[in-house]
Amino acid sequence: MRYENSAEIFEKAKKVIPGGVNSPVRAFGSVNKSYPIFAKKAKGSKIWCEDDNEYIDYICSWGPMILGHNNERVMAGVREAIEDGSSFGLPTKMEVELAELVIKCYPSIEKIRLTTSGTEATMAAVRLARAYTKKNKILKFEGCYHGHSDSLMVKAGSGLLTDGYQDSNGITQGTIKDTLTLPFGRMDLVKELFEKDDDIACIIMEPVPANMGIIETDAEFLKGVRELCTAKNSVLIFDEVISGFRLALGGAQELFGVTPDLTTLGKIIGGGYPVGAFGGKNELMDMIAPVGDVYHAGTLSGNPVSVRAGYETISELLENKDTLYKELKEKVNYITSNIEKISEKHNVPVCINKQGSLFTIFFTDKDEIKTLDDVIETDTEKYAKYFNVMLDSGVVTPPSKYEAHFVSAAHTKDDMDKTLEIMDKAFEEIS
Ligand code: PLP
Repeated sequence: MRYENSAEIFEKAKKVIPGGVNSPVRAFGSVNKSYPIFAKKAKGSKIWCEDDNEYIDYICSWGPMILGHNNERVMAGVREAIEDGSSFGLPTKMEVELAELVIKCYPSIEKIRLTTSGTEATMAAVRLARAYTKKNKILKFEGCYHGHSDSLMVKAGSGLLTDGYQDSNGITQGTIKDTLTLPFGRMDLVKELFEKDDDIACIIMEPVPANMGIIETDAEFLKGVRELCTAKNSVLIFDEVISGFRLALGGAQELFGVTPDLTTLGKIIGGGYPVGAFGGKNELMDMIAPVGDVYHAGTLSGNPVSVRAGYETISELLENKDTLYKELKEKVNYITSNIEKISEKHNVPVCINKQGSLFTIFFTDKDEIKTLDDVIETDTEKYAKYFNVMLDSGVVTPPSKYEAHFVSAAHTKDDMDKTLEIMDKAFEEIS
């Protein structure tokens, strides 16, 4: 593999962009690379970098590309939308059609508001929960990531974990104090907290945590928080920015049969273009301006190109839901069951957590990885070695042990077999 062009661009990038990247995990720092690969183009399951190396892609833009890159149907819609103009500052019919489509897939959502990112969606959902309950504090779980707004940057996952810290600098002590955190899955601690504190406006959670690697969800925990929120007049927010339209058409809430009060979405609903959304019961959503006095706005909210890409993506998912989700899960089962064989063959123990089309390989002797502390203890050096052998052999995997591998509808049996062959080589080098 050549990396000269990426290395050269990175040198220029570092002079004009902090760390040379516009989102920290892209820097490849935690896998001991001195530069990342710069993407040039992508199609289906493949991505090509500025050195024209071809990779099988398991980042999938961190989630949006469930149909694979540059899906024909999505691209045709986008081309049509672009011809009509980029953004108007006026509502468009397609926004209504996308809202109707999302509501059809999520019975818990009666009204939905579009944003430009997942961060804006979670930020607005928290504000709405505070307005509705007239309470101040929020509860989130350690290692879960909900975007980069101040109140959600406490004990956060994803890039913050990768970079070795969990609270961002630059947040007021007041904000930190109002964000309560607990380990994921500990219903006993959640109950105890609610007994002591009657000022908790919401629980915001990834129903299946995917930003400290995948943590497998205990359905009883989701049911427990649902019951508690109802009993304590607290709003339950499922942040389905990753899990929405990915684990099932109706997200984790469909899969586990637990209904939140508010849902946040992103990634897939923009089909690869910038978008986010939050939605829920009328009672809550009708508090949003201009109906109510909880303010939310955005110059590019409901951008016509993003909305059209999302509409085509979701339509495709809806039309194929009976086979598509089953096939995605089968792909992950195929890959992960073979990784287990490879791990035994080379005597490199791993614990694999998976849910639907997502999986994480933790290099560890432990049989179970259930909490952030478990994840932190897994072997970072072995993960880095794994990443580097994969990359040098044409497979791009998440550049951090705290992220998930994403599988798309475009990944073929050939892709998976080639991936497994290279994994065999990676594990041999690790052993
Ligand atoms: N919520 C979750 C669960 C996420 O994984 C992310 C991003 O990865 C966000 C919110 C923030 O979304 P965005 O990056 O679009 O702002």
